Order: sequence, then structure tokens, then C-alpha cells
Amino acid sequence: MAGTARETLKRYFGYDSFRPGQERMVSAILSGRDALGVMPTGAGKSICYQVPALMLPGITFVVSPLVSLMGDQVRALKEIGARPSYLNSSLTPGQQNTVLKRAAEGWYQIMYVAPERLADPRFLAFAQAAAAPGGIGVPLVAVDEAHCVSQWGQDFRPSYLQIADFIDALPQRPVVAAFTATATDRVREDIAGMLHLRSPETVVTGFDRANLSFNVEELGDKAKAEWIYAYASTHADESGIVYCATRKAVDELAFELGRRLEGSGVRVARYHAGMSAADRASEQAAFIADVAPLMVATNAFGMGIDKPNVRYVIHHNVPESIEAYYQEAGRAGRDGDPAACYLLWNGHDFGLRRYFIEKDVPDDTLSPEEREFARQNRYRLLAQMEGYCQTTGCLRAYILRYFGDEGALGIEGAPC
Ligand code: ADP
Repeated sequence: MAGTARETLKRYFGYDSFRPGQERMVSAILSGRDALGVMPTGAGKSICYQVPALMLPGITFVVSPLVSLMGDQVRALKEIGARPSYLNSSLTPGQQNTVLKRAAEGWYQIMYVAPERLADPRFLAFAQAAAAPGGIGVPLVAVDEAHCVSQWGQDFRPSYLQIADFIDALPQRPVVAAFTATATDRVREDIAGMLHLRSPETVVTGFDRANLSFNVEELGDKAKAEWIYAYASTHADESGIVYCATRKAVDELAFELGRRLEGSGVRVARYHAGMSAADRASEQAAFIADVAPLMVATNAFGMGIDKPNVRYVIHHNVPESIEAYYQEAGRAGRDGDPAACYLLWNGHDFGLRRYFIEKDVPDDTLSPEEREFARQNRYRLLAQMEGYCQTTGCLRAYILRYFGDEGALGIEGAPC
């Protein structure tokens, strides 16, 4: 089997080998076993279901909430000679008819659908016929962003609760494979439970970023700004991001750094949600083009930005969780060259975070007990952050243990 999977990988995607976790996911799926893949963005999740979809007879459904990305995925698969499709509200009713008709004829190997679609009677009738004896076959349902099924995750989507009903309504049960980047045990358990996964092969991989170095510094409030100035002025030819917890801190720090770094020729950009859209766009563009190599920003900055040559990310304040920290720090070194991550912290940071947790407007769709659970959950996440600041052990190991990706720790010569 593995040989054939590798041939498929090579033939369609041009890659010589699977990444470590991919192979285990693909083998599990091909042997008819459910699978749960916990991998960060960019680790290569799509290969895990695309390769089986191209090998197995019938049509694989990929449930994804990211309607805007479906078109890109389908285009990319078409280019490599596969027969993909998608079904979502961006298509006209006429186009949807055509897609369903061709799907029923067995033309497509893979179909991306939004979760809402699963409850649509026409779609369900098509899927049931496909999965029935003598039908075209539904070998696999892949669920992307599977944490959306959990109320304890940050991105809960009620439409994800329909996925299990959909699968249960098929005359023959397909293999179910779920994918997420989330680290919380509670959410992982929920995924397995809510999607009715049957003893899934669980693979946690891809969290290690070997080219990043991790550092923490306990510094007073004033000393932080001084430290950042010293770092930026001695790394004036490099691009970096400084994350602050509040808009006010961004404005003050960007102003001070801008003034003091003028002599070294370093222009400082600034970004937070309180600025006009035009200002944000121009500051971001200046940073991307290296006109302003240093960006001072709140966590509003960075989503979808793929600047390869960011050499350092400094946190002026403590983020709310290891997940948030790793996502922001992970914007350093996308090109694979060495890059540095620094977290500056003091007791005030944790006071501020606790204040944010207490004052946050409660979500009125939750019951009082659920709200209390969510609040306690945020304290738990913050406690992990506190542990990170205070550990005397290896910071990389702390992060990898947090995500459950301990396989990476055993690699000989892995940096600490
Ligand atoms: P994810 O869905 O986890 O965010 P993708 O599936 O988009 O990640 O993959 C991220 C990148 O890694 C893509 O550019 C993809 O082509 C590449 N990639 C995935 N698997 C492999 C592999 N086995 N060998 C080489 N490159 C790979």
C-alpha cells in the first residue's frame, strides 16, 4: 500500500517522500481506519486526504468552513491532473446542478463542501445514493478545521454538529479523518466524540520549527522598551515584528522607537485595529516591502501575512496562551533561515491578562455554567503561559510538549 501511496504522491504532487506524520495518516486511511491529525497550518494536512482520495474508488468529501479557499484547492488539484469539485453558495443554482449531476455520474474523485451543505436534502440524497450498494462509493469523509465541532474551542460552528448525523445517514460508513491544529485535550476529545470517530489513529506532528530560537527575559516596563531599542538598533539590517498587548502600547512604543531609530535609518511601521483601514494597509505594505523593516503591532497584525524574511519576533507583553504565542512568534523565519523569538515579561503582564479575562463581555449564547467553564479555561491557558516564562528547562521542549508533539524532541541534535 505504502509504495502505491508514494507513487501517487510522486505522480500527482511531484514529492519524493511523505513527511513523517503524513505517511501514518495515509496508511491508516487506506487500511480503512479512522484518523485524527493534529498538525499546524503549513504542515501538509491536505496531502493526508488528497492522496487517499486519488487512490480510492468513489468520491471523497472534504468538509471545510473556508469557502473562499475551496476554489484555490480545486484549481491546484485540476492543474496536477486530478478531478476535483466544490459545492458551495458561491456557485449559481445552475452550476450546483451541473456539479451534482457530474458527481452522480462518478466524474469527481474529491468534492469540497461547506458543513451547511450536508443537511441539504438534495445533497444528502446524492450522497446516500453514492454510498449505497452499487453506487459510485464514498470511501472517505475528511473534516478540516475539526475543532469547530467543539464548544470549548474558539471557533465553534453549530453547522459542524451536522457532520456526524450526515455520516450516520449514509448506507455504508466511510472512513472518517479529522484535522486540526488545536492543542487542548478537551477539544481533541470532543472531536473524536462529536464526529463519532472509531478508535482513530492519532497523529500529532509538525509543530517543531528547528530554525527558531526561543528566549524569555523578565524585565520591568521601562527596561522592556530600552531592550527592544538596543536589539533593533543592533539588528538594523533585519526585519522584525514587536507585538504589544494594547493599542496604546503600540502607539507609544512605535513612536519612541521611530524617533530613536531614525539615526540608524530604520523606519518603524505600526498596526492595530484602532487605525483607519487605509493607514493599516499602507503600514503593512511598507513592512512587507522592507521600506519599514520593523513592525510594532497588536495581535490584529499577521493573519495571512507570509513575509519570509522576518528575522525576529519580540513580544513586549505576554500573550493569552501558548497557542497564540506560537502562532505569532512563528511568523519569524518562514524562509527556514535562523530567526529569534523573544518574550519579555513581568508580573504586570499577568495582571493585565487576568483583567482582560474578567472584563471580557460574556457571550450570551452560553449558559452561566458554560461561561464559567470558558473563563476557567482561559485561566488554565494563561497558567501554561506563566509556566513557559518561568521554566528553567528547554523552551522548545516546553512548547512541543504543550502541543503533544513529543516525537520531535527525540531527534538527535535537535536544538533546545
Ligand atoms: P496545511 O493544509 O497543513 O496548512 P498544506 O497541505 O497546504 O498544509 O501544505 C503546506 C505546504 O507543504 C504546501 O506547499 C505543500 O505543497 C507542501 N508539502 C506538503 N507535503 C509535502 C511533502 N510530503 N513534501 C514536500 N512538500 C510538501
